[in-house]
Amino acid sequence: MSNCAVVGINWGDEGKGRMVDLIARDFDVVVRYQGGNNAGHTVVNEYGSFGLHLIPSGIFSEGVVNVLGNGVVIDPESLWKEMEGLRAAGVRVTPENFKISDRASIVFPYHLQLDGLEEERLKDKKYGSTRRGIAPVYSDKYQKKTIMMGEILHPDYLKARLQGILEWKNLTLTGVYGAEPNEFGRIYDWVMRYGGYLKDYICDTTELLTNAQRQGKNIMFEAQLGALRDIDFGIYPYTSSSYSIAGYACIGAGIPGSHVDRTVGIVKAYSTCVGEGPFTAEWFGPEADKLREAGHEYGVSTGRPRRVGPLDLVATRYGCLIQGATELALTKLDVLSYLDEIPVCTAYELDGERTDRFPFPADLDRAKPVFESLPGWGGIDIGGVRRFEDLPKNAQDYVLYVEKALGVHIRYVSVGPGRDDYILR
Ligand code: GDP
Repeated sequence: MSNCAVVGINWGDEGKGRMVDLIARDFDVVVRYQGGNNAGHTVVNEYGSFGLHLIPSGIFSEGVVNVLGNGVVIDPESLWKEMEGLRAAGVRVTPENFKISDRASIVFPYHLQLDGLEEERLKDKKYGSTRRGIAPVYSDKYQKKTIMMGEILHPDYLKARLQGILEWKNLTLTGVYGAEPNEFGRIYDWVMRYGGYLKDYICDTTELLTNAQRQGKNIMFEAQLGALRDIDFGIYPYTSSSYSIAGYACIGAGIPGSHVDRTVGIVKAYSTCVGEGPFTAEWFGPEADKLREAGHEYGVSTGRPRRVGPLDLVATRYGCLIQGATELALTKLDVLSYLDEIPVCTAYELDGERTDRFPFPADLDRAKPVFESLPGWGGIDIGGVRRFEDLPKNAQDYVLYVEKALGVHIRYVSVGPGRDDYILR
């Protein structure tokens, strides 16, 4: 029996979905433990190409039970549509292979509305929210004013609580933002309609996971976003509102007394970032456009062009540290093939001093990148390579250089989006 967390080391979009889809085959249970439908995991396999927002990437693997843990926030309408989309493509999504924690919080339409209203109020100081209601719902959770998925199975209990919560929400909507209040009947009908579709999937996932552990089953924890978006350790306030680190995996999954045995950190061979906030190694202009096109760097959830730049070893080392990564997967190495010289950011310059320490958020805005260049591999297509020693020498050297700089073993090198496009070291 072993537990394994698969987590992002950087700003998210590192290719976690693709790695989980690959690794999930060795596990009995795959659990999402934080976040909501604000990020997307891209999986390309025999069923087609999918942008998963909530459903764990283990859904494609036969015999794997997929769980949304208590730490996740769920928009039931969006989840139902995602389930229907998968079914239409021939993927099995049933109460046997997909379970929803009764303690996960529900994202209501007013959470999305408040997310948008606040971003509009902030104008040019906005956080770059995906407007999926994630910050408002997590804030409500800690104010003890969310509805849990399990309440759908107790309609009278839900109704009474929702009435009180909506009264309070409407005060904010009308008083702070001058918006129209939400009508109770509409919100209640909405949650009972989509909740009704989901009720057979809702269960006590703590019991489920504890039993799985007792039976010696292997559990994988699938994270969303990356270390630099973690609410406590990320570039606050340009973070998500949940814990994207492996340290939260057992709590958000629903087995709080357990620990993670193995943490696979996903690192992209270059840097990307969606949304606002410091992004020290950023490229602009044609250089950035070329890399963005080569890597198809557009958001899965929003379609927004991602900010791009060379691999930032300062930020990545920090990401490895707070994730407690025991091994790494380096993804999208093939994307760098077009470059003659591959820059990497090896240090920051802060107020005239060079540092390889990742600064406190208040200092990060002033940090300037220090780049070094490594030789490229002359445009050779490495997409078909399956053994490390078959990579061009300069590609091998790039991997070894990154491994040394990060101090964590790179176990997987991904050279394409397909399930088998990787090298195991
Ligand atoms: P996630 O949120 O961390 O899962 O990241 P994304 O869903 O944004 O995935 C990154 C994108 O890169 C997706 O379109 C993947 O299919 C693709 N991808 C993942 N690994 C590789 C790789 O090694 N090479 C290439 N060319 N594409 C990859």
